[in-house]
Amino acid sequence: MNTNPRSNPHCAAIIVAAGRGTRAGGPVPKQYAMLAGLPVLRRTLHPFAQHPGVGKIVVVIHPDDRLIAEDAARGIEISFVDGGETRQESVYNGLKYMENTNPDTVLIHDAARPFVTLDILSRTITAAEQHGGAVAGLPVADTLKQVGDAAAILETVPRDGMWRAQTPQTFRFAPLLAAHRAVQGKALTDDAAVAERAGMTVVMTRGSEDNFKITTPDDLERAERLAMTRHDTLVGQGYDVHAFAPGDHVWLCGVRIAHDQALRGHSDADVALHALTDAVYGALGAGDIGQHFPDTDPQWRGVASDRFLRHAMEMLAARGGRLVNVDLTIICEQPKLAPHRDAMLATLGDLTGLSTDRIGLKATTTEKLGFTGRGEGIAAQAIVSVGLPASP
Ligand code: MG
Repeated sequence: MNTNPRSNPHCAAIIVAAGRGTRAGGPVPKQYAMLAGLPVLRRTLHPFAQHPGVGKIVVVIHPDDRLIAEDAARGIEISFVDGGETRQESVYNGLKYMENTNPDTVLIHDAARPFVTLDILSRTITAAEQHGGAVAGLPVADTLKQVGDAAAILETVPRDGMWRAQTPQTFRFAPLLAAHRAVQGKALTDDAAVAERAGMTVVMTRGSEDNFKITTPDDLERAERLAMTRHDTLVGQGYDVHAFAPGDHVWLCGVRIAHDQALRGHSDADVALHALTDAVYGALGAGDIGQHFPDTDPQWRGVASDRFLRHAMEMLAARGGRLVNVDLTIICEQPKLAPHRDAMLATLGDLTGLSTDRIGLKATTTEKLGFTGRGEGIAAQAIVSVGLPASP
């Protein structure tokens, strides 16, 4: 599956994440704060990674934040560049890093604006290609007051033609790099100001109220509420059966259980982990175990099945998602599973990262009916719930 086509190497993005601001509260800079279970930076990167028009993504960070930034961006194809003393220097470092690639256009975006959408990116790209530069923003709706001492109003400022500038700010690459070079040492408020000073035409395009920059503790609360509404909850189910064969143990939930028979299979035949793995693939719409680990491939012969579940969990993480809960039922007459329940729960907790109150693990017989009732094999079925960021 190709969710990250990188179809246009001529359009690149710089995500500015070098600020150390902790005005929003919390132990880490706001771009690494958690929003509904995912770091702000991860949410910000998601639409850029998904956009078919965006090629290379460069994230400009403070060197001290390298580990936390790598963790936040895990699974997303990006490059890191160290930032400078100011935002302007940080952007300049990103632009210089891209000089060899020489993209046609470059989007510059604040890491602390996690609710940018594909449409907003598209509008700035199209307008920048046409005019040279384009900024996402919104017309000012409130009346503007110029105030002096003690907040006394000096005058009412006409708001006609006034816009608030957000990011992304998108430009043809070569003229913007030249413009940044030309203003070295002069502090300007944003990249549009740099471009304007160099005589580039920069137009405003429609951003959104949700595309706000997280700055204060209030912003972080607002972002948390919004993130909760931008989350999809998906469900996956898996079912598997393995037949008994001669042997002296079975594997269930990654636990070796002594028994007077074994389960037949290409791998270790852990029917419970297979059902669970297929449930995770199912929630992601990502096929099944047989597709990812064909039983015609000798390298999977006798392999421990936690390998399969780890792969499904990695796919889930790469999509920015997380497991919410698991409910697993093992269906057999023998062996008796109650004595092994704690060990199985512990293994499932390790593999899924879930606490045991989020893991349902049940065993049932079929009252001697059917193939499980006749003791011909073991069946397992699993249901999982998964939280994923909604499509940007
Ligand atoms: Mg199987």
